[in-house]
Amino acid sequence: MRRTKKIFIGNKEIGGNSPILIQSMTNTKTCDVKATVSQILSLEQAGCELIRCAVTSKEDALALKEIKKQIHIPLAADIQFDYKLALLAIENGADKIRINPGNIGTKDEIGEIVEKCNQYNIPIRIGINSGSIEKDLAEKYGNSKEALVESAIRNIRILESFHFHNIILSVKSTNLEATIEAYRILSANYSYPLHIGITESGPKQMGTIKSSIGLGILLYEGIGDTIRVSLTADPIEEISVAKDILASLDLYNKPILISCPTCGRTEYNLLEVTEEIEKFLNTLGNVKLTVAIMGCAVNGPAEAKDADIGIAGGKGEALLFKKGQPIRKIKEENIIKEFKEEINKMIKGEY
Ligand code: SF4
Repeated sequence: MRRTKKIFIGNKEIGGNSPILIQSMTNTKTCDVKATVSQILSLEQAGCELIRCAVTSKEDALALKEIKKQIHIPLAADIQFDYKLALLAIENGADKIRINPGNIGTKDEIGEIVEKCNQYNIPIRIGINSGSIEKDLAEKYGNSKEALVESAIRNIRILESFHFHNIILSVKSTNLEATIEAYRILSANYSYPLHIGITESGPKQMGTIKSSIGLGILLYEGIGDTIRVSLTADPIEEISVAKDILASLDLYNKPILISCPTCGRTEYNLLEVTEEIEKFLNTLGNVKLTVAIMGCAVNGPAEAKDADIGIAGGKGEALLFKKGQPIRKIKEENIIKEFKEEINKMIKGEY
């Protein structure tokens, strides 16, 4: 992992050697405090560690104060076009401000935001997005890594000219290659923490795939301090995809499920078992455990051996393994119930 500068956002920190923070964004009207709080609380429960709300009006900015009282994770305010909304959002308790350099205003107006952030000791994310990049850069470079990087550098310089260094950077594009390259360049040249994401990546399936590829490559290279998976779906889905991406790279503790694709050798209800066990594992939270569900004896025992706990199917039954040791056979009709009990015992250390 590349070391970045540590930045504090409310009661959380990012950068340095902190774990990668999972974040999402509400899709309610921010001024609808009840709906927004309810969505944030569900996201918190799903594992969201930082929430961002769009602030599009004075009412939205004022609502932040009440929302903050009812939630437990830091609140970032997403500001476009009107720097005065940024000032109001900060006064109403935003823990972080995201500004879009392409539309936030003049250098003097950014200076006013900086002053307010200093006063309240909160960071600014320079959130560059290929769809709303500064006009001159868009004309010069099109949707490319150069446009993203040059916009980032230009805006870092503006903030640094005010001696402000409480900065987080993001350079998101719908183009995977441009995004990856831009993050690589920034990571090599700056120590500010990086918020990584693939913007407007699409509906659940496509968005998950694009985000997994883009974010996976960056994270594998040690790039990224906070992650947001953008999906055209319920934001709760963003959290589970983010967790799975991080867990696949061993950057997050959650149970990992290994299961075989099944073939003509499968002789028990593996699909149903897998579906039920996956749901069950998702309720276990921050637990480091590898669980295997294998269809038959060809690869099953070997794969299940590498897992902490697993089953390998037989005819109408499955063999239970723990840490590579065969334990006992379980009848097909009891697999789901008994396998869950065995997983629970293993987590409690009772084996
Ligand atoms: S583990 Fe067995 S059932 Fe599963 S795909 Fe491999 S050979 Fe087929």
